[in-house]
Amino acid sequence: MKNVIITGSTSGIGLGIARYFAKAGNNILLNGLEKNGAEIAKSISDEFEVQTIYSPANMLEPAQIYDMVAEAETTFGKVDVLINNAGIQFVSPIEEFPTERWDAIIGVNMTSCFHTSKAVWTGMKDRNWGRIINITSAHGLRASAFKSAYVAAKHGVTGLTKTLAIEGANCGITVNAICPGYVKTPLVEGQIADQAKAHGMTEEEVIQNVMLTKQPIKEFVEINDLAALAMFIASDAAKMITGASIPVEGGWTAQ
Ligand code: NAD
Repeated sequence: MKNVIITGSTSGIGLGIARYFAKAGNNILLNGLEKNGAEIAKSISDEFEVQTIYSPANMLEPAQIYDMVAEAETTFGKVDVLINNAGIQFVSPIEEFPTERWDAIIGVNMTSCFHTSKAVWTGMKDRNWGRIINITSAHGLRASAFKSAYVAAKHGVTGLTKTLAIEGANCGITVNAICPGYVKTPLVEGQIADQAKAHGMTEEEVIQNVMLTKQPIKEFVEINDLAALAMFIASDAAKMITGASIPVEGGWTAQ
């Protein structure tokens, strides 16, 4: 049994990973802005008989991030695994890209990973064991037009992953990234609509001609594909894997 913090876990990929880890008997701190976050945390605790906490910490507010980690350390005793998953998206050509959307995407998708990692680091180092898993994206390795902030933030986390892997190398901490292709979650549903507008296409045309054209395997990635990999990275068997960005994207970045 491990104690796991998963940011942005009251929806989509984070929620799926939370359920997967809870099913395996791990305690979870769930975080996210969904209004029913506390109910989600309780239902996971009831279903899988593990301890859960719900934290509404806003990943744009460093003080709330440090309080969230402190709450997990106090309630669970320690934090073994941190999964940085919270993320937002905005799709627009650069000349119309709103500055406040740039700032928010860099803040949630990248800077929050610095704060959460910093907050768990001392405890993991003292115990000589820790796992940090960043859910980046194929866009942490490749670019697409109209996603300047998202691609910049995800590439930034790819760099942070490598840096912290080196810093954690001699204190039992591994730091890796999982790079999904397209997963049909609320975030992607929003992108389909935005891209349709940006490209002047129907939503079905966006799915077939814009999104999945980049993936040789023409299917959406399933959340459990990501959760199973996260579970392996969190295990002792993965102790020699660190600083890696592991694609789960149907061959997108092989090209
Ligand atoms: P989602 O919209 O379903 O969930 C995002 C979660 O992040 C939600 O719980 C939301 O409340 C939370 N969040 C957003 N802003 C926050 C903030 N300021 N503070 C705290 N929580 C906040 O999205 P998803 O598709 O499940 O995406 C999860 C992660 O996976 C993101 O980092 C995303 O970039 C990445 N990803 C998604 C896909 C995909 O196709 N869905 C592909 C590659 C990478």
